[in-house]
Amino acid sequence: MTHRIVIVGGGAGGLELATLLGNKAGKRGQAEITLVDANMTHLWKPRLHEVAAGVLNADVDELNYVAHAQRHRFKFIMGRMNGLDRQGKEVILEAHVVEGEQILPERRLGYDTLVIAIGSNTNDFGTQGAAEHCIFLDKRSAAETFHRKFLNKYLKANQDPSADPKHCSIAIVGAGATGVELAAELNHSAHELVEYGFDQIKPENLTITIIEAADRVLPVLSEKASAAILRQLNELNIKVLTGEMVTEITADGLHTKSGKFVPAFLKVWSAGIKAPDFLHGIAGLESNRINQLVVKATLQTTRDDDVFAFGDCAQCPRHDADTPVPPRAQSAHQQAKLLAKSLQRRLAGKPLLTFEYQDKGSLISLSKNGSVGNIMGNLSKDFTFEGKLARFMYITLYRMHQFTLHGVFRTLLLILRDRINRRASPTLKLH
Ligand SMILES: Cc1cc2nc3c(=O)[nH]c(=O)nc-3n(C[C@H](O)[C@H](O)[C@H](O)COP(=O)(O)OP(=O)(O)OC[C@H]3O[C@@H](n4cnc5c(N)ncnc54)[C@H](O)[C@@H]3O)c2cc1C
Repeated sequence: MTHRIVIVGGGAGGLELATLLGNKAGKRGQAEITLVDANMTHLWKPRLHEVAAGVLNADVDELNYVAHAQRHRFKFIMGRMNGLDRQGKEVILEAHVVEGEQILPERRLGYDTLVIAIGSNTNDFGTQGAAEHCIFLDKRSAAETFHRKFLNKYLKANQDPSADPKHCSIAIVGAGATGVELAAELNHSAHELVEYGFDQIKPENLTITIIEAADRVLPVLSEKASAAILRQLNELNIKVLTGEMVTEITADGLHTKSGKFVPAFLKVWSAGIKAPDFLHGIAGLESNRINQLVVKATLQTTRDDDVFAFGDCAQCPRHDADTPVPPRAQSAHQQAKLLAKSLQRRLAGKPLLTFEYQDKGSLISLSKNGSVGNIMGNLSKDFTFEGKLARFMYITLYRMHQFTLHGVFRTLLLILRDRINRRASPTLKLH
């Protein structure tokens, strides 16, 4: 029987792995590759803040799994994993129900090798009111909800200027990449909206506040990079409160431990991650306090050599540090590339490769505007640069993902499509 490799999660890492394996082992008939995802389409997660700010139309940028699978010799199954039977070697997919109608029943999917790459969700650390009042920017639907609410605020203000306040306050918890990039994109959108005639809320009347518990923005970057980002946020008129722990969130705003209150109409929580709850101790596998499956350097889970995990949902050791591999797109990308080679070796009966994370630094996009710089910070080298070169390198990260998925020719076509769209379509999604 052909070896069955099942990959659950078609995100930044899982989709790359399925594509690379499909192109090789799938094409040669060495293995049957199946990708499972809870959705029918893929959108690269680091672009979610652009969807929220309306600078990216997710409908244009999404990738359809069915069509992609057909092209790259793997099978796609739509389904949400909610359990695992390790003895029977089966993944359990929950029933798919839409508006009360069961479209697909609960299913069991057999595997010889299982790879879990289901990413992470936002971790609000149980903060009072966060789940109720904040938007967690970890899914496309959440980013679209944010965009709709943001746009509706401008629509209402424009429709009846006397009835609605001409001021809009947004609070973002967490000054990591997501929070900082979202704030910068929103500032950019505020200027664009005025150009489109939504001029009742002036850019200077959009108050964006980032609240961070650490003593500086982007605490994972070098102090130099962090200071440069703060300077640029200040230039954009974005308020930053550091050393402030959010203790409660209400419909009207956020309370901090030091007694401050930040009023906000829209509240976003982007201060931490955790793997989906159902992974915690699933089928006896080892997991950590944020539900990540603990894996060895081969990306095999510690208690079952046939079950692999990588990306945000895995705790993977680093060869050069005591801390685990960070939950980033570049980690998932590097792991997918290694695993594609490693699993082919496994099929050929050869030993597995071990993963060594290469920190390529971090690029933070502070909006599209060329006059607003971008920064690369690397803890080991403390090499910081800004401006158009950094902007170019930031975009390259996404193009590398597309390149892995589509190859050179189609990626060039997609770049051309994006250029045409930029000329032919509005610069903001206005609905
Ligand atoms: C707004 C934002 C900005 C970011 N910016 C950056 C950045 O600039 N640079 C960087 O390196 N990283 C960035 N990140 C982090 C980066 O997106 C993640 O580290 C990366 O996407 C992790 O890849 P992954 O493959 O592990 O998971 P994901 O890309 O999240 O993919 C998980 C996939 O699993 C599917 N799935 C989830 N649960 C199930 C289930 N139960 N059953 C079946 N399928 C399931 C999902 O639909 C999804 O397709 C950002 C994240 C966010 C939210």
